Amino acid sequence: MTPKEVLALCREKDVKAVDFRFMDFPGLWQHTTIPVGKLTEDVFEDGLGFDGSSIRGWQAINESDMLIVPQADTAFIDPFCALPTLVLICNIQDPITREDYSRDPRNVARKAVNYLRSTGIADKAFFGPEAEFFVFDDVRFDQNAHQGFYFLDSVEGEWNRGRDEGPNLGYKLRHKEGYFPVPPSDQMMDIRNEMMQTMIECGLDVECQHHEVATGGQCEIDLKFQEMVKMADQMLIYKYIVKNVAKKYGKTATFMPKPMFGDNGSGMHTHLSFWKDDTLMAGSGYAGLSETALYMIGGILRHAPALLAFTNPTTNSYKRLVPGYEAPVNLAYSQRNRSASCRIPMYSPSPKSKRIEFRCPDPSCNPYLAFAALTMAAIDGIQNKIDPGDPLDKDIYDLPPEEMAAVPKTPGSLEDALLALGDDHDFLLKGDVFTQDVVDTWIAYKKKNESDAIRLRPHPYEFCMYYDI
Ligand code: GLN
Ligand code: MG
Ligand code: MG
Ligand code: MG
Repeated sequence: MTPKEVLALCREKDVKAVDFRFMDFPGLWQHTTIPVGKLTEDVFEDGLGFDGSSIRGWQAINESDMLIVPQADTAFIDPFCALPTLVLICNIQDPITREDYSRDPRNVARKAVNYLRSTGIADKAFFGPEAEFFVFDDVRFDQNAHQGFYFLDSVEGEWNRGRDEGPNLGYKLRHKEGYFPVPPSDQMMDIRNEMMQTMIECGLDVECQHHEVATGGQCEIDLKFQEMVKMADQMLIYKYIVKNVAKKYGKTATFMPKPMFGDNGSGMHTHLSFWKDDTLMAGSGYAGLSETALYMIGGILRHAPALLAFTNPTTNSYKRLVPGYEAPVNLAYSQRNRSASCRIPMYSPSPKSKRIEFRCPDPSCNPYLAFAALTMAAIDGIQNKIDPGDPLDKDIYDLPPEEMAAVPKTPGSLEDALLALGDDHDFLLKGDVFTQDVVDTWIAYKKKNESDAIRLRPHPYEFCMYYDI
């Protein structure tokens, strides 16, 4: 869509308000709105001024003036606003130099694609994330949690499950059997259908929706793969729709990776492939992969501990990456083994569908930064011909302990992943995609506001274990 076409769409749909959206540094959509009469073709050129100092992780107060520049090709009609409202996703620029802002996550993703093209390796990076999420009736967390006061009346029950389940009405899903009996056991069918339909109306290409393994209302809706920046844009529309449809039903949806102790967490397995005219993934190597694809795996596995600081960027992410819940813990690859962090899906015999599924990412990530980092690790693998080693095809539970111990593992905490990123980020700096400032700010922000914030607070379960000591 061009600016002219956006203005025509506004007239056709009787739009009254235009909402500008962009993403803060950690990954939450922000917005500001103008009446439709103020949207002219010039706005697409000149942008709109705003104060960038209040956005998490952004400018210092003395250089806070910034510009949001709407992108006409991202236009869609907001499905929830009472007043007909058009949404435009924006880039962020410096108002004086008109340079794209280096800490704008969308800019980092755009630079990663440009860098990929400039290397001559590929002209397209396709991404297909499978985001999972929970829908709860309510969430019972203590609003005073930030003060460190917690009182638990049960140990692993009510507080931990975040919901008031009431009596068993006969069709309650059995533990880990959410994948996937029909209603009435599946109580999320109508909600997921409405989410799916709303996504389609907003221009997203939905492939399927289903209940997931965890019994607390865990859901998955899958989109058809797209080019990287478009897919990151779509993931934000996706989350917006999931949360707002849940709210319509008097429920809440969460993308936190591990909301429930003792049950599966929510991942965002991410499928990726590089193309240059045709796919670069298919060949005569292991699992029908090309040499290029194997090097991409080599790069992803080599840089995985640092990569996870972007693909699994919350303290809660590392409560998901433990054995026993279908989440990967082994930094290895396989066409069969789902405990390996890189899987080669074998669903389709078509070489065009050949891709790598990286199973570590979770939906708490900022998709622009996560996809960009993954692309950079894959590029580094190709440039340095990084051998991914042997696949991990044996059933790992049968592996002798020495062999098992030799397989590298995912980091144990956000703190470990941030340390790994501090040691290993040259692959991200190529082509000025992630600047040193972006890496340093990410590490400092995540350490101070999240990793240390959790480390320094008494945990509710500590009250259970130690209160009577
Ligand atoms: N929920 C699992 C995870 O955390 C994935 C389950 C599945 O899709 N097979 O990754
Ligand atoms: Mg899936
Ligand atoms: Mg799934
Ligand atoms: Mg998957």
